Amino acid sequence: GGFLDKLSFEKGKPYLNKTYVKAVNNVSFDINTGETFSVVGESGCGKSTLGRSIIGLYKINQGEIYYSGKRIDNLSEKQMLDYRKKMQMVFQDPYASLNPRKNVKSILTAPLKFHFPDLSAAEINDKASEVLELVGGDTAWFKRLPHEFSGGQRQRISIARALIVDPEFIVADEPISALDVSIQAQIINLLIEAQNKRGLTYLFVAHDLSVVEHISDKVMVMYLGTICELADTKTLFSDPRHPYTKALFSAIPKLGIPSTKHIPLKGEVPTPINLPSGCVFHGRCRYANVRCKNEVPALIEKDGRKIACHGVEEGRI
Ligand code: SF4
Ligand code: MG
Repeated sequence: GGFLDKLSFEKGKPYLNKTYVKAVNNVSFDINTGETFSVVGESGCGKSTLGRSIIGLYKINQGEIYYSGKRIDNLSEKQMLDYRKKMQMVFQDPYASLNPRKNVKSILTAPLKFHFPDLSAAEINDKASEVLELVGGDTAWFKRLPHEFSGGQRQRISIARALIVDPEFIVADEPISALDVSIQAQIINLLIEAQNKRGLTYLFVAHDLSVVEHISDKVMVMYLGTICELADTKTLFSDPRHPYTKALFSAIPKLGIPSTKHIPLKGEVPTPINLPSGCVFHGRCRYANVRCKNEVPALIEKDGRKIACHGVEEGRI
């Protein structure tokens, strides 16, 4: 009975190099109402694909997505409209995601007019002012074009555009990574504030682990489209167990703790077009053995987390 329950993919179907690839594979998890669920992993691991598939920007060709108990991956465009307004997306690049020829007022009000065609001009104006205020802007922004704003302001406008239709669930795909470091915290705080004021649920796709630790209730670590480890934030950060999680987390500088062993990751992420056999991480894992090369590790419950690793299951890691 989660908010997004029984979400499972066997194959994602993004269009990549004109080849259909399994970008997301055997991924299954729940997101509870009001929580921030983060997905981490190196680029190319399927994080963005996952986020976009959930809200219907990519069609999945196997698996099921449930939203508040209702299956949504097989809905028609028309049936999906109701869910589209409940699920909004904030993109990584605020320079690319705002139409450069539209002023802020039309950028903000377009989704509102689309989803709520019966609203009066006054109601539309009120909603636009309200969300703009929530993100730290004001109505003096209405007549201006995106290029007149800084990156941080543009991301505020993007967030306002997502909020204007009163969504329940927001997929934020690396919402701060294109921004200047000095303003990243402001945008994170804004997202937290919006969540608290409106009871939002977030799927947060990110690679900055210190931010993830700060804002998340649960964290899922992905590698090549599969789940390595999934746990509540405290469990995962205090005691990462999967070799990939350990390697990824060992790069985080910890305040006051002398940098211990940084576990280097050997090699590059292989291409998802030709997935490695067995555990997809085996080519880069120093604990890999013959079983790892041949057998896909199942996602099991162990020590308060979900984890997919033969070595952990066997008790040798
Ligand atoms: Fe390493 Fe084997 Fe665990 Fe994969 S299953 S992470 S290769 S020990
Ligand atoms: Mg991405």
